[in-house]
Amino acid sequence: MKLYDTAEGKVTELTLRNPKEVSMYVCGPTVYAPPHLGHGRFALNFDILRRYFLYLNYKVIYVSNITDIDDKIIQRANQENKLTNEIAATYENKWFEDMGKLNILKPTYSPHATEYIEAMVDLIKKLVEADYAYETEDGIYLEVSKIQNYGFLSGQDVNSLKSGARVEINEKKKSPLDFTLWKLSKPSEPSWPSPFGMGRPGWHTECVVMSLQLLGEGFDIHGGAQDLIFPHHENEVAQATALSQKFAKHWVHCGFVTVSGEKMSKSLNNYTTLEELLAFHDARSLRLLILQSHYRSPLEITKETLETADNALARLDSAYRRFKDQHLDLPDNSSIKTMYSKYFEEFELAMNNDLDTPKVTSQIFNLISQANTMADNGQIQEGAEIFAVTKIICESLGLELKDSSEELDPTTLDLVAKRDAARINKDFKAADEIRNRLALLGWTVEDTALGTRVHR
Ligand SMILES: [Zn+2]
Repeated sequence: MKLYDTAEGKVTELTLRNPKEVSMYVCGPTVYAPPHLGHGRFALNFDILRRYFLYLNYKVIYVSNITDIDDKIIQRANQENKLTNEIAATYENKWFEDMGKLNILKPTYSPHATEYIEAMVDLIKKLVEADYAYETEDGIYLEVSKIQNYGFLSGQDVNSLKSGARVEINEKKKSPLDFTLWKLSKPSEPSWPSPFGMGRPGWHTECVVMSLQLLGEGFDIHGGAQDLIFPHHENEVAQATALSQKFAKHWVHCGFVTVSGEKMSKSLNNYTTLEELLAFHDARSLRLLILQSHYRSPLEITKETLETADNALARLDSAYRRFKDQHLDLPDNSSIKTMYSKYFEEFELAMNNDLDTPKVTSQIFNLISQANTMADNGQIQEGAEIFAVTKIICESLGLELKDSSEELDPTTLDLVAKRDAARINKDFKAADEIRNRLALLGWTVEDTALGTRVHR
């Protein structure tokens, strides 16, 4: 399998530490606000990658951290007059609730920063002892000029990184690129003991410690959104390099969600939360939209692109209903895979080429057309088998196909039954009235040989 490696700046063959197992660390959220579409995108992109490894029968150890102590959490706690751990717990719950709605598999481990403070203090102590870090009046910093190869991940030399770095006021650093390992706390802030004084760890230390502790040296994939390449990931590598620890073998980064060409972010205040999106769209539409774009490209998510995805999803669901209603006796999934191996080879070829999911989605829609044409021509069984191929491919990417009429509420069920009765009695006026009432409830109504079917 080939994947683009940020450190190498090209698509390369993925080699694994253990041939049967994939170890992945994907930087998770700082829990101080509800997740927005940018979070949804990276979580979905890495969920798709993880599910594809599972489809290929690898064991996957997937670690994604929860940053539960940070300046933004402290700020929010102060604004709302709450404790930082209350803010963190609220938004961690919200994170997992929304990830669940997006059908994102739970990480194998979701370590919290606050559970690893001792290990972080140990790592900082080692960096100070080895003379890679220095103490100032506000904390401990890593001295970047002492790190060999700094800038290799972002593909820039130290001088150009330096001129682009923001120098923050009140920082007592030797160079603008030096970064905080331990931040001394103000009296009212949450703090932990350390030989350097009461304080809290820096974010870059959190991820290097938790990834190495849970996955061990030389783990396979480190991922995140592109804005984490510099400084976050570069600084994680810097600490591992200073301590001569083998770090991630492969770096995978996904593109941004953009709004009119600009990155969607909390700080730019141009974001849509996942909750806002899910109030109007099927969560599966977002997954489909993400599959239709390449993971490294920027992605505009607008009302229009989502509506197009809603319609495309309706085509898939409608094929699902069509073949389900036939009640055919189909071969099981492993027989389908053997019988139609050429389609699965096509799927794997695209996925193995740096996750070419746009190609896979065209394959999916071609297969759906093929299945429908066969059924239109009376080859119902063959059509249903081709549909079964499509369903296996969709599900391996976390895209479940379903009949939304299976989830009918009692009112809708009652209206459907009354409409069927009216049609049997040839009372078409009543049948039309009920159709309008169903439409007002948001249902699309179809007349089939088996009676009224409704779906959203
Ligand atoms: Zn991280």
